[in-house]
Amino acid sequence: MSELNLILLGPPGAGKGTQAARLRKDFDLAYIATGDLLRSHVADETELGREAAAYMDAGKLVPDPLVIAMILDKVEEEGDDGFLLDGFPRNDAQADALGEELDQLGRRLTAALLVEAPDDIVIERLSGRRTCANGHVQHVTFDPPKVDGMCDLCGRPLKQRKDDQPDVVQKRLETYHEQTESLIDYYDEKGLLRRFDGTRSPTEVHDHIRATLATLRLEERL
Ligand code: AMP
Repeated sequence: MSELNLILLGPPGAGKGTQAARLRKDFDLAYIATGDLLRSHVADETELGREAAAYMDAGKLVPDPLVIAMILDKVEEEGDDGFLLDGFPRNDAQADALGEELDQLGRRLTAALLVEAPDDIVIERLSGRRTCANGHVQHVTFDPPKVDGMCDLCGRPLKQRKDDQPDVVQKRLETYHEQTESLIDYYDEKGLLRRFDGTRSPTEVHDHIRATLATLRLEERL
């Protein structure tokens, strides 16, 4: 079967992480989530983490040189049999760097999966989002924990991500519109863009993505 090299696009809170978790179960893909990698650098207090933290707390993009090297190394190390990139690329320079790297490796992207949701929905989702140390996600209104403040899955305390606080969410959305949204046209022009309605239920979005990927694979074999 042909390898799947995928990127997930869309505003913060559109449901990219939720879809990624499901797609990883469906297909054996290396999952490379830039935000998760950066957060673990911050937690481990590495040099990269120390440099990145201030940008992340302000809802801004971490400078390209730091992020591009980190992600392209991961693609080379882990992505031989296909990959799913979440949170990268986030601007044209990162997209160009990824394209050049794949060209050099004699590989290409299968699709850019865009999960779309309007700002008001994204703000509501992110401001109520709570995460435990194991990365499980719940929502105070849409998926409230059975025991207040504790993760249903592992019982660890649920916390709000620093950058899910309202003022930072607003800034992250601005950053998305100013720097990342242009990637929609970028990948559309290359014929790689596939759109999904992130306001639908996670299962509906997942079914739609799976159907789209199945069609793409069939087309590749024709
Ligand atoms: P996320 O978990 O994808 O929402 O990312 C959290 C934060 O990490 C973002 O607000 C940025 O500060 C930083 N970040 C994640 N991905 C990138 C990227 N591709 N380029 C620059 N900064 C990023």
